Amino acid sequence: MNLQCFGGPLPQGGLKVTASWHGSVLHIGLPDGSGHVPAVGMTVKAGGFDGQQMIVEWRNDAGYWSCSPASPADQEQFLAQAPAVLTEQLKKWRKSVGKTRAGFHFGWLVLGTFFALPLLALLLFWLNADRLAGWVAQRIPQAEEVKLGELSLAQVRAQMKLTQQGEAARVVRDIGQRLTQGSRYHYQWYVADDPTINAFAIPGGFVVVHSGLIKATDNAEELAGVLAHEVQHVEQRHSLKGMVHDIGLSALLSLALGDMSGSVLANMAQQLGGLKFSRDQESQADLGGLEALKRAGISPQGMIHFFDKLSKQDGGNIELLSSHPASDNREQALEQRVSQLGSWSAQPLQYNWPAVKQSLKDMR
Ligand SMILES: [Zn+2]
Repeated sequence: MNLQCFGGPLPQGGLKVTASWHGSVLHIGLPDGSGHVPAVGMTVKAGGFDGQQMIVEWRNDAGYWSCSPASPADQEQFLAQAPAVLTEQLKKWRKSVGKTRAGFHFGWLVLGTFFALPLLALLLFWLNADRLAGWVAQRIPQAEEVKLGELSLAQVRAQMKLTQQGEAARVVRDIGQRLTQGSRYHYQWYVADDPTINAFAIPGGFVVVHSGLIKATDNAEELAGVLAHEVQHVEQRHSLKGMVHDIGLSALLSLALGDMSGSVLANMAQQLGGLKFSRDQESQADLGGLEALKRAGISPQGMIHFFDKLSKQDGGNIELLSSHPASDNREQALEQRVSQLGSWSAQPLQYNWPAVKQSLKDMR
């Protein structure tokens, strides 16, 4: 067998020597004649860059020696022929090689996991984003939800002109408060100076109605229908879930891309106006909205009529409808729900509607 040896009188870079066991003495072929090394004085240990190598050491008059089998086959031979006096040391060596091998693999596992986990999390999130967002949204304390809402509102303010002043805003607040009696949220009502027909609800109880939507209504009951619907997106935490969904995804994405700049927050306002709800959430908001109208003693006909009117206007190409996808039989489902709830007596809402719409002109 061949051993790679260092130390003693050998050259700096070591020397490959032939070796063989003769009983408990190792004969090594050195250039200046054979050397005889008794096994009794040998130390066997594990070494090398990966801790897998066998290193046999001894000390004699020529100094310190360190040899390793030159190949796995040489190692086999060394082990097979080694004398009994080395058995205990070789056992320890085997154990320690096994350990470092496991440790070595564990190191790779940790490294691999370190890189793979974010990707795995991202993948899992992607696949289950909807369910996860719902789960997270249900667990966010209301105080945190309101903080998130305030943050979003500030973003909206930066992009739109919002007001709580004037007749239109007063009517929105008035009707809104009737619809949210007993709610756990403290609602704030805003009118936005925007000609598109839209309204949206921010998590925590901030409702924004575009002036364009108010202009599109023929009476207070129609506005009440939209408000009753929007409020449900807050009450049922649809808006919060939508934001968790979008922010969660973009936060995870920026985490994966190593970019945690303010882009996440900057996107929030944009997402709010265009927050897409599912058809399920829409019908939940419709049905919950009807119940709120009943509790408030407001006729449901305005709601039913307004949504129907919008779907026929501009081929249904209305901003409110683009972010609030309706089922094909929305009107029918609403009528059905009303009859399920049992019709209720409703006093017409007493507002001077032309004057309310006229007041929007003062916003500019
Ligand atoms: Zn909706």
